[in-house]
Amino acid sequence: MSNRIIDLHSHTVYSDGSDTPRDLVAMAASRGARAIAITDHDTVAGLEEGRAAAERIGIEFVDGIEISAEFSPGTMHILGYFINSGCARLKAQLEELKNARDRRNPEIAARLQSLGIDISYDEVERLAGNEIVGRPHFARILLDRGYVDSIQDAFDRFLAKGAAAYVEKKRLSPADSIDLIHRAGGVAVLAHPYQLKLSSLEELDRLVEDLAALGLDGIEAVYSRHSQDQRDMYAEMAERHHLLITGGSDYHGTYKPDIRLVEGLGDLQVPYSLLEKIKARASDRRNEHIC
Ligand code: AMP
Ligand code: ZN
Ligand code: FE
Ligand code: FE
Repeated sequence: MSNRIIDLHSHTVYSDGSDTPRDLVAMAASRGARAIAITDHDTVAGLEEGRAAAERIGIEFVDGIEISAEFSPGTMHILGYFINSGCARLKAQLEELKNARDRRNPEIAARLQSLGIDISYDEVERLAGNEIVGRPHFARILLDRGYVDSIQDAFDRFLAKGAAAYVEKKRLSPADSIDLIHRAGGVAVLAHPYQLKLSSLEELDRLVEDLAALGLDGIEAVYSRHSQDQRDMYAEMAERHHLLITGGSDYHGTYKPDIRLVEGLGDLQVPYSLLEKIKARASDRRNEHIC
């Protein structure tokens, strides 16, 4: 059975992961995965390298992305699968999202400095490389300097929504995020619903109904940090709204040190059968491709 598992959620050095696409794909294969999606935040820059590595190794590769949408109280991320990364409209929108980050990030550095922390934005950029700079990069420097005990501690004390150095950034609305993925020929999936921080299942159900009306295709029910009960609940909700179920680890390498690629916290098993259904949906969506 081990060759019938997949991982549809992972991050590389092109956003806030610590592995190159090449190394990540090789690791997925070595863990017995039959397919791997790279889903970097707001960028498609790692997909070409990932796909080439996957072809060499003989593992299926899914072009993915993870878009941060406007939402409160928690965080809404929309995953896109089977997107056409050459889509001009997609590229233009991603450029704007990168610009919004480039406006926010120096402000985070300034807030940290005003809290007495020795950090410069230059070094954050250097650590991140030349694509997406994210809060985990700030967290890494805070950890290396001994200001915090872990990446999570850096978020809790400084970087999380509402914490001392949190700065908002412009995001796409949920509707625009879904639309952008569809226009690029992709399938749109609500990532890790627990991060929405909704207070009841009824509230989540209403949100999912609204998102489904906007064309949402699926829910990431099988996720590292979801308990078995949550996985069952979200899968049941997906079925009720005629949505697909997807799953993945959200591997970030050293930026989320407890999460293993393909295996999550040790109990993750995303069956290949989920991917078959996503592929069928993607071939329908491809007709809407209007890049
Ligand atoms: P950014 O895209 O720069 O806003 O950063 C998003 C990244 O930070 C994602 O990878 C999240 O996993 C991580 N992140 C956001 N909020 C938290 C939190 N409260 N605790 C831990 N990690 C977080
Ligand atoms: Zn991330
Ligand atoms: Fe996410
Ligand atoms: Fe993610």
